[in-house]
Amino acid sequence: MPDRRRILAGLATTAIAAVISRQAWAATSIKVDEASALLVIDVQNCFLPGGSLAVKDGEQVIPVINRIAKGFANVVMTQDWHTPGHISFASVHAGKKPFETIDLAYGKQVLWPDHCVQGTDGASLSKDLSIPQAALVIRKGFHKDVDSYSAFTEADGKTTTGLAAYLKARQIESKTPAAASTPRVRSPKPGRIWPTPASSVFSQTIFRSRA
Ligand SMILES: [Zn+2]
Repeated sequence: MPDRRRILAGLATTAIAAVISRQAWAATSIKVDEASALLVIDVQNCFLPGGSLAVKDGEQVIPVINRIAKGFANVVMTQDWHTPGHISFASVHAGKKPFETIDLAYGKQVLWPDHCVQGTDGASLSKDLSIPQAALVIRKGFHKDVDSYSAFTEADGKTTTGLAAYLKARQIESKTPAAASTPRVRSPKPGRIWPTPASSVFSQTIFRSRA
């Protein structure tokens, strides 16, 4: 439930990099166990410096994610994975520019530069990720007419990625999202997105959130 949810940390990457020493991580109230999973959200070349939708300094979060991931037996990664000519691309809407919005059947859609096109280098997960135990890569946004920010549910609010069922089958109850961009991880319950970005979609943050 949202009111029981505890956001334990939501810090800028540079701050995180400075403060999360092994000791500081251990000193938090975070308990990582067999029922915990780290969700690594869209750490892909397009979202990193040099990419078509780059997050400034986004590469700085990668060593932090790698370090934190060592504590997790369960790690899931997501990968934005769009068709060419995806509906979220400004280039397919005449007269529209990136970051303008349009109205779609499922609501407002922000238009983006072309990014994370299936099979391209930009869509690849960063080669600097070092999480060999990651057991699952969830691809999302591959329906041409539906965008997907969430790891759980696409932007139409009903198409699932299957991640909730996977976590349930693995008896995982606690999830920690981590991303170069602010992760917008929708909970399995419709309409609940945590953590909701307060100001900027593209700030570097890493969160701990426990349902
Ligand atoms: Zn996308």
